[in-house]
Amino acid sequence: MCGIVGIYSHNQVAPDLYDSMIQLQHRGQDAAGIITCDVQFHVKKGIGLVQDIFEQRHMERLRGPVGIGHTRYPTSGSRTDDEVQPLWTSVPNGIAFAHNGNIVNYREMRREVQENRKRYLNSYSDSEMLMQLFADELHRCIGSEPDRSISDEAFFQGLCDSAEEMFRSVEGAVSAVMIIKDRGLVAIRDPHGIRPLVYGRREVTAEAADHIFASEDAMFYMLGFNRVRDVQPGEIVFVSRDRRVYSRRLRAGRFTPCIFEYVYFARPDAMLNNVNVYRSRLRMGQNLGKLWLRTYPEIKPHVIIPAPATSNTMALSMARELGVNYSEGLYKNPFIGRTFIMPDQAQRRQSVRYKLSPQELEIRNKDVLIVDDSIVRGTTSKEIVHMVREFGARRVYFASACSPVVQPCYYGVDIPTREELIASRMSEAEIREYLGADLLLYQTVEDLVEAVTRKGDHQIDTPCTACLGGTYIHEEDRDPELGLGDPVQTPTSDGTKELP
Ligand code: SF4
Repeated sequence: MCGIVGIYSHNQVAPDLYDSMIQLQHRGQDAAGIITCDVQFHVKKGIGLVQDIFEQRHMERLRGPVGIGHTRYPTSGSRTDDEVQPLWTSVPNGIAFAHNGNIVNYREMRREVQENRKRYLNSYSDSEMLMQLFADELHRCIGSEPDRSISDEAFFQGLCDSAEEMFRSVEGAVSAVMIIKDRGLVAIRDPHGIRPLVYGRREVTAEAADHIFASEDAMFYMLGFNRVRDVQPGEIVFVSRDRRVYSRRLRAGRFTPCIFEYVYFARPDAMLNNVNVYRSRLRMGQNLGKLWLRTYPEIKPHVIIPAPATSNTMALSMARELGVNYSEGLYKNPFIGRTFIMPDQAQRRQSVRYKLSPQELEIRNKDVLIVDDSIVRGTTSKEIVHMVREFGARRVYFASACSPVVQPCYYGVDIPTREELIASRMSEAEIREYLGADLLLYQTVEDLVEAVTRKGDHQIDTPCTACLGGTYIHEEDRDPELGLGDPVQTPTSDGTKELP
């Protein structure tokens, strides 16, 4: 999981990219970078938070109306400076590339890119491999044609052919934005739409508009963009130098966006795949409340306390459903990073007490129901239960708005090996005991999916639940009966009209 953004503006783009990346910081706090383009690429990247990397002098150097940005959450390759995105390559005519997702058949594709296509890879980043694969295909389709001697329509066809080849050979999650030097801005999303990508537009004059593609629409309002729609699964969108928008849906697999975006990752104010994240979290809490009433009809806690802050929304609606008080009895220091994203277990253990302070008046002598968005390794949940007991709770119950996480993620989320996942090693009774809770309740997968898909004018077939024991979509694709199917013949637009 990373944050990506690409903007084609009528002004200098760097300030808008910076502001966008601040709004996407929750999607990755490990590293960040910006590439802009005028007559050449301008690059600034670094390790750490956006606000610590970019200074005024960097922003002044990042010239040009088009640019892309990336906030990194490492999942593939190592964590070196070299692999900080966006990346760029010079062939065929300059491509800058920012990717959110993860490639499952990386080893096989790495061999293909290096040995068959003779492209040098300078890292073990799947994003670099993906960029070189796309660049090589584009080179094959259009040649190394840096000027405007081929039309935008013909160039777009080359982009479509390159993307089609990428979709055909690569397994995994791809949401990406690219600058193609002297041609424009490109956005692309894999045929299952696993990672989000949203498109927005800002009117400049009656005839002219700026365009933005981003992992979430959190920055649209602030920057004056209107949300147009999600980039569809299997779609490529191209904004040319004269700001015409070309789009085509190349493949349509089953639409299976990541359910964890709704559970944990996305900001609550985001609208992803036409489903409002905040409302989906309210519905998760509602469903969890109903399940509590069915499972423990005789037991009513005095207070529901969220493990802040993602679960605040779920805890609030669960409290409404049970008719009990909601209390923010654990104060979260907002200046400390999310533990899920931190690199190692020791750091994580240390950080729970560091970032959470229990409020004794909300806890002492009460039966407390703690609601968390999920239980992954169990270490954070255990410490929270312990802290609440230390502050005088009479009984401590624990509810997870997400179902047990039992399998790793291969699509870009740091859900670790089975051995590290508490629910793959222990039964629910053992987990309850490990946490030190008096009762434990997990949301069911069915209720979780229902909470995400109940409302919204969405086209989701079913969200990805592979880490919750569901099917890995790339394994379905290998099945000739269920697989990805043939390329879509009909483009979503005629390739020349502006998108709605
Ligand atoms: Fe999301 Fe889990 Fe699927 Fe990974 S496996 S994409 S975390 S739902």
